[in-house]
Amino acid sequence: MRYTPRVHLDLHRHLEGSHSAAALADVARELDLRVPPFFDVAAGRFATAAELTRVTTVTTPSDDPAAFYGCIVAARAAYVSVAAIAALAERALREAATDAPAGAELRLSLFSMARTLIEHARRPWRDVPPAEFAAAYAEPILAAVIAARDRVVAATGVPLLLRLGLSRTFESAPHYQALATMVTGHAAALCGVDVLGIVGGADREPLPPELRAILDALRADLPDLTIHAGEFAGADSVDRTLALAPQAIGHGVRSLDDPAVVERLVASGVTLEVCPTSNRLLIPSAVDALVAAHHAAPLVALQRAGVRCVLGSDDPEPLATSYQRERAIAGELGVDLAQLDADAAARWRALARA
Ligand SMILES: [Zn+2]
Repeated sequence: MRYTPRVHLDLHRHLEGSHSAAALADVARELDLRVPPFFDVAAGRFATAAELTRVTTVTTPSDDPAAFYGCIVAARAAYVSVAAIAALAERALREAATDAPAGAELRLSLFSMARTLIEHARRPWRDVPPAEFAAAYAEPILAAVIAARDRVVAATGVPLLLRLGLSRTFESAPHYQALATMVTGHAAALCGVDVLGIVGGADREPLPPELRAILDALRADLPDLTIHAGEFAGADSVDRTLALAPQAIGHGVRSLDDPAVVERLVASGVTLEVCPTSNRLLIPSAVDALVAAHHAAPLVALQRAGVRCVLGSDDPEPLATSYQRERAIAGELGVDLAQLDADAAARWRALARA
């Protein structure tokens, strides 16, 4: 097999987690967003990028994702208009293109973006009928992000894919349904669907039946399905996720707890999208246990078992990382970079066909 060195493909990255402090500071000034944390009302001035970093980045590992989620919410405070979202998306996509010059795939949490926009208009989102939610809020956001992507691709020549993210928080089936129906009209501009989101409770990675029905329906137009699993929950979560026949699983590192699940991953050829810094910061106890059990970093152990693995930055701003940094970390952990690149290239070819 021919080895193409340094295939810099970021295959797991979220748009909401890609708003750098510098971009937030600049866009706040450009669009005169005089809201916290971007504007210090008492001092009467905009926050600097260095000041914003304190509220947009976590540095301490914790099994409680509250601080991380707080960073996402802090950045979302800038989603005050479609224009602001478009400006931030363009900056995030440009930064992704620089970070991963062979290409990147970004997930778009369209429901939460639309909900945030409505809340900034001082309207309870549940009061917005599903059809209006989709047509008046979600669709203009989606169109603006797609247009921003197209501009960045034209300017940089770096291929950038967008994936619809549907959250397992699943706040309202009718609103998700309306959003999904609207998205099918933009399917040609998207590369697939992702299931994401942090939830509390006994089951940290639920797949509600109504969400599964929406995924099934979307698959005709967007066949490439990825699902976050085996991150906040264990190998069982990966096992039930495999029943949905996804093309890839976000994280999935905790499949290592069960050799039978690892075997299923190998046999199915499903790719795991592994994000080392994200795991170190958000599931430190699970990572420590895996390292102790396998005498290797999860990505190394998965590769040795024959599981296809690609690398992602996940949420570069809140996790204070980048694709380039994840790549350097992978090298230090003893990851087989040639195998990683071969798996990334294969996954990218599959995405280009989808
Ligand atoms: Zn993720």
